Amino acid sequence: MIRPSTRLTRLLGAPLVIACAGRPSLHTTSAPGLAAAESLYADLRDIRDHIDVTLASGHTGINDATPVAAWVENHNTLRRSVAARLAEIDSAYLEVEDGRALSVMRRALVGDLDSLVPPTAVAVASAPPNCAYEAQEMLGLPKGLDSLRARAYACYGWAQSHVVVGADTLDRLTILGTLGRTADPARRRQLFLALEPVWRSVNGDNRAISPYRVLGAETHRQQKGPLPSLVQVSASGVSPDSLEPWLLAMLETWRKAGPDSLIEPWNWYYRMGEASRVLSGRISRERLTQLNATVYRSLGADVEKLGIHYDVEPREGKTPVAYTTFGARPRFMNGAWRQGEPWIFATYRTGGLDNLSELLHETGHAVHIAAIRTRPAFADWPDSDPFTEALADFVALEVTEPAWQHQWLGDSVPLSQGLRARYSGIVMDVAWALFEMRMQRDPAADPNQVWTTLTRDYLRIRPHPELSWWAMRGQLVHAPGYMMNYAAGAMLIAAIRARTRELHGQFTTGDRTWYGWIAPRLFRYGQERPSRQVIEEFLGGPVTPAAILADMGRR
Ligand SMILES: [Zn+2]
Repeated sequence: MIRPSTRLTRLLGAPLVIACAGRPSLHTTSAPGLAAAESLYADLRDIRDHIDVTLASGHTGINDATPVAAWVENHNTLRRSVAARLAEIDSAYLEVEDGRALSVMRRALVGDLDSLVPPTAVAVASAPPNCAYEAQEMLGLPKGLDSLRARAYACYGWAQSHVVVGADTLDRLTILGTLGRTADPARRRQLFLALEPVWRSVNGDNRAISPYRVLGAETHRQQKGPLPSLVQVSASGVSPDSLEPWLLAMLETWRKAGPDSLIEPWNWYYRMGEASRVLSGRISRERLTQLNATVYRSLGADVEKLGIHYDVEPREGKTPVAYTTFGARPRFMNGAWRQGEPWIFATYRTGGLDNLSELLHETGHAVHIAAIRTRPAFADWPDSDPFTEALADFVALEVTEPAWQHQWLGDSVPLSQGLRARYSGIVMDVAWALFEMRMQRDPAADPNQVWTTLTRDYLRIRPHPELSWWAMRGQLVHAPGYMMNYAAGAMLIAAIRARTRELHGQFTTGDRTWYGWIAPRLFRYGQERPSRQVIEEFLGGPVTPAAILADMGRR
């Protein structure tokens, strides 16, 4: 996951300067006004990134000595100055790429780089949010839709990290992980149903006044132009018209590979957890972070040398999703590249195969953004979220490969079990993506019905229309359409991985030349080039689902 609503961090000493590797693509501008403005813009990014990761690390300056308020003031002053300089530049006199850089920076100033207000004690209190609210009434407030979204997400965040099972308070991911390891079906049912307050935080009792349904209806009412999820997918080179049939082809392929009988949802998680049951015991909490670093080192990406920071301990008030962001961006200064500082935020109480897979995914984001080599205007996530999510899974997908398991865990499961583990999460994401697509198309539909139909027809999960069990992904509330990025991203990365094996060779059991080969081809661009172009040049043609369907069908 990338780009949560709030991001935070910690202060660093002198930034590391590394030698420039390969040919930097600097495109230094010949427009003097633009060059000066862009340099200030990079300074502004530095301050902002730093504030974001400081806050995300739990240092708000309210109960500690972090001078966040002073940084925020500096940020806002600098922002005004950058805005004034950018406003003075006449784009008519710029070369094409400079003109694009100018418009990217102007857009960022009113988006990601909007003015900040210092955190207040109220905003950062770790007390439970007030979740006894009427969704419809919140729409009457100024910025009603944003307020409702923020409230629903806060309530979801609280609920998903305070799931009560008997005498224990657990978080959602721990519950789902435990389902995969619990042999007793009655206990599995109890654990699954313990998630009910999480579902309720999003969808109440599934009446039309539920937060999710009110959000959906209002978003639909205010929506102009194509759905945001389809814009993102198009930017990766997947045609919106092909998307739905391709996603359905993935689900069909999945259905053909499994038994036809219906299974309870709590038992589905158990069945999909077979690989994890066999192998998780080999990954302690301590081994989790070590193994993550070792695997990337074997591919030529040393997480320490790349300046990647990990904030993965449990903490009250921490954002409920795992994500990666910039603590600083790679920047060409004084004749050399200053290293970036990717930050990873997640919460791990235990080790296990599933947490390892997530950590490898987040580290996949981090090694990607550590390799960006472009001018400040373009030093950002690419213009396609599916592409970004796909790249994060480049290495993470290996955990289900028997040869990888043998190499790193000293034991392995059969290919069929490995593939089931690889694709169970993906087909679930595909189901969520189709769910959102259908709900966005028809916000008056009953979400429980839409979900149970999809999961019955394709995943062969017994319908429970009385349960809103789809309502346990924060993205559904916080970033509508985001699930599509995972679904389209799965298709993309299967194609990219197959192409890498074809052009460069196998990397499953390690390849120290992998990072050095991939980075200049796929990682370095940021927003310098459209993702679609980067992808199609790498693949030698347009994206198709051929690679993922072939991989799903391996025997
Ligand atoms: Zn991600």
